[in-house]
Amino acid sequence: MVKDDIIEYDRLHLWHPYTSMVNPLPVYPVASAHGVYIELEDGRRLIDGMSSWWCAVHGYNHPVLNKAAEEQLHHMSHVMFGGLTHRPAVDLARRLVAMTPQGLEKVFYCDSGSVAVEVAVKMALQYMYTTGHPEKNRLATIRSGYHGDTWHAMSVCDPVTGMHSIFSGRLPAQYFVERPAVRFGAEWDESDFAPMARLIEQKHRELAAVILEPIVQGAGGMWFYHPEYLRRLREYCDRYEILLICDEIATGFGRTGRMFASEWADIVPDIMCVGKAITGGYLSFAAVLATERVAYGISNGVPGVFMHGPTFMGNPLACAVANASLGMLQEHSPLERIAQIEQYLKRWLGPAAELPNVADVRVLGAIGVIEMKHEVDMADIQRRFVNEGVWIRPFGKLVYIMPPFVISDSELETLAKAMVRVVAEID
Ligand code: PMP
Repeated sequence: MVKDDIIEYDRLHLWHPYTSMVNPLPVYPVASAHGVYIELEDGRRLIDGMSSWWCAVHGYNHPVLNKAAEEQLHHMSHVMFGGLTHRPAVDLARRLVAMTPQGLEKVFYCDSGSVAVEVAVKMALQYMYTTGHPEKNRLATIRSGYHGDTWHAMSVCDPVTGMHSIFSGRLPAQYFVERPAVRFGAEWDESDFAPMARLIEQKHRELAAVILEPIVQGAGGMWFYHPEYLRRLREYCDRYEILLICDEIATGFGRTGRMFASEWADIVPDIMCVGKAITGGYLSFAAVLATERVAYGISNGVPGVFMHGPTFMGNPLACAVANASLGMLQEHSPLERIAQIEQYLKRWLGPAAELPNVADVRVLGAIGVIEMKHEVDMADIQRRFVNEGVWIRPFGKLVYIMPPFVISDSELETLAKAMVRVVAEID
């Protein structure tokens, strides 16, 4: 099939993320990807600024991950997890329990981030039910969050960007407070927690859990907030017997400069969701970790089991690749490199703050954000980036990068400088 045929068939038949079937945005056919390069069918090579939405932290086509997948294929790519278990699943659980904040010991595997959020919410509600508080069945969260596109996950996404109004009356109604205003790195101001404190004081009898993305709000606004907010939230959740769910699907595995963003506040959530980078971007896979208290609260109640069990739960191929991916993170910690990436991003993106069309520039760990004053024209800016040899996909006013950790200094410089150049060219 020649390239134009692919594009035409794609346009007519394939639904892409968040696009129209009538007037879709342009798409670029990819032939392959190696290291930090995405290679288009027309031969152009783009430096990847997105890690395929936070996932490909080790870069593409990584020999260690390839080998793990190939070896596992010779044993089995899948067996059901009901009544069976296998070494890749057990080894991965060992790694996850060892890497995540202490106290998260019970591991539930599922197929994607959104499903992990559904599982976490279900755990929280079932825990309240089995421990004698069925009336505690609502959730609270902060605005500008993003937790996935399935039903309960969507109910805790930002109501405006998540377009709740389309589904009003159908979507479970949750409680929202303003997103934390005090930035990461700024001086803490106690009043920042007041809206959440008030909500919890007033509604705790109805609340099963507070769910949020720790420190970095991703797809809902690329906002970095103060760790003290999380510490306060942990105290309030304990005081009012509410579970704390940290969605570390985007932030987990080093991206923010700590292995998990919860570590910035030194807190342990009751339930934690991880996904995305867990398989280094090879396969869709996620896990929900819970404390003993949550797991035993559910299991010692009626019906005594956790009512969830997806077909591909514990998929051996995904577990094997995840073991290899987490093994690399454990053996050669990327945190030092991420701290360097942070310094470079500050140096190379910083000058964009002077541009008249830029509202804000912020960097944390291996995440760099330029917030524009106006929404960008996606098709236009994407074309400009591709012409510059970089792959960056903005949304709304946010132009941002979170490159693979294996990016070299010179590739990072090219990426960041191209980002600033393009941003300077547009309105
Ligand atoms: N939570 C967060 C914080 C996310 O960033 C995402 C994905 N962008 C999800 C949940 C949903 O994950 P998935 O797309 O794998 O369903």
